[in-house]
Amino acid sequence: MSYVLIGIGIVILLFFCYGAIPTVLIRVFEWGIVKRIHRKEMAITFDDGPNPKFTPQLLDVLKKYDVKVTFFVIGSNVKKYPEIIKRMADEGHTIGIHSYEHISSWILSPFKLKKQLEMTEKAITECTGQKVSFYRPPWGHFNVFTLIVSKKYTKIMWSYIFGDWKVEKAQNGLLEELRASANEGVIFVLHDNGDTLGAEEDAPGYMIQNLDIFLEESKQKGIQFITLKELERDL
Ligand SMILES: [Zn+2]
Repeated sequence: MSYVLIGIGIVILLFFCYGAIPTVLIRVFEWGIVKRIHRKEMAITFDDGPNPKFTPQLLDVLKKYDVKVTFFVIGSNVKKYPEIIKRMADEGHTIGIHSYEHISSWILSPFKLKKQLEMTEKAITECTGQKVSFYRPPWGHFNVFTLIVSKKYTKIMWSYIFGDWKVEKAQNGLLEELRASANEGVIFVLHDNGDTLGAEEDAPGYMIQNLDIFLEESKQKGIQFITLKELERDL
């Protein structure tokens, strides 16, 4: 029995050493990642799309205010909805890698992680013909090999995350937090797809409604937004 317990203990310890500990260290000490930009503009980023219902609505709102953003997309969704990816590119947004499926790096071998990145890059490039330079891992999870495996990409994290993947949050409170957090050089992360584990399907609809108000107010206040490809040389 005690051998079983020791075995379980070793497995848990290895799991922590492989995923949780590197994630905490990388994020706290900002090793090889970007959490803010050194510019007067701010950057809005979206994870988990494209979604056939919400992403086109979001693109309409962005177009209305002429705001360029950055999308971290799921490769398998890119394959399903290539026309949305083409539209993102045509309208001047930056497209980066989230993963091929929405899987935590904590349970991926370095080889499988590399495959997720390569497959997503290929799916984006086939759609847009553009170079892919940016990566953000699902849930912001890193493993011991992530920085090596993803060295060709700039790893973008965020200054502010809002919990907008839940309907309650996207509906109530999001707008106030967006207003309070908007500042020079910050990176926001929002979500244009509610299909992922822990998210709620209808949440992006409420996020888009509040973003619409936020962007209208921001334009009046003179807040400026930037898409990450414009910063490629600075980062
Ligand atoms: Zn995600």
